[in-house]
Amino acid sequence: MADDIRLYLFECGIIRIPRYVVNLADALDEERVDNPTPWYLLTHPRGNVVIDGGNAPEVAVDPVAHWGYLAERSPVIMRPDQALLPELERVGVAPESVRWVVQSHLHLDHTGALAVIDRLPTAEVLVTRTEHEAAHNLQSWERAAYCPADYDKPGVPWSLLEDGEDGYDIFGDGVLRCWRTPGHTAGHLSFEVHLPSGASFVLAVDAGNTMEHVNETQMPAFVQSTPDAIRSVRRLRRLAWRAQARIVPGHDPEEWPSFRLAPEYYT
Ligand SMILES: [Zn+2]
Repeated sequence: MADDIRLYLFECGIIRIPRYVVNLADALDEERVDNPTPWYLLTHPRGNVVIDGGNAPEVAVDPVAHWGYLAERSPVIMRPDQALLPELERVGVAPESVRWVVQSHLHLDHTGALAVIDRLPTAEVLVTRTEHEAAHNLQSWERAAYCPADYDKPGVPWSLLEDGEDGYDIFGDGVLRCWRTPGHTAGHLSFEVHLPSGASFVLAVDAGNTMEHVNETQMPAFVQSTPDAIRSVRRLRRLAWRAQARIVPGHDPEEWPSFRLAPEYYT
């Protein structure tokens, strides 16, 4: 088990979505894009952190049975060994060492750790109260993007982050900070990571799905609030400038392979 600070970037397969779901300006473009599904692991001497955890393991077996509508329309390509627990084993991190599951939001391609929360016995699940409430009171138009089977169940050790806790520093040492970035969903979080080597990252997650969204050369199509999404990408760019950090976009087929992916890691 790693007792130093490392950042791992994992890919939990791809979702083959039409471009009109990606960019507002591509409303008539049905070309398919192979959207990677990232998730993250931060090892830390005080306990390890899983950020999101990709898809539930059931998605590798029968995505339509587990997700319904979305998987009926967009092919999901995921191998069983790309699920959270086999990936933790591959990099030598024990499930019992996961202290926090931190959720950017609760969309279905981000709830892979919640799906196996009973296998993470010492973890608490950190998510904003706003996202938690939305995910438990879904509007009809939101249903396709959430999979309540992963998270709406008894025994989940929720730890709800209040609006006033913006910038929450998980360990109190500046290694992992949570910033509110609403727009994609009202309760969305992005993350600022500072590693011992001096390397820094801003994990935009779905507040910046692609670098085109981050740089505002395209507007995201799949948002709860476009004005909030614009404010949030501007916030991400300020945070990244201040920290001299590289932005990791949430689902960018071009940018994603340029990162050091697990089992490699950043220190
Ligand atoms: Zn999302």
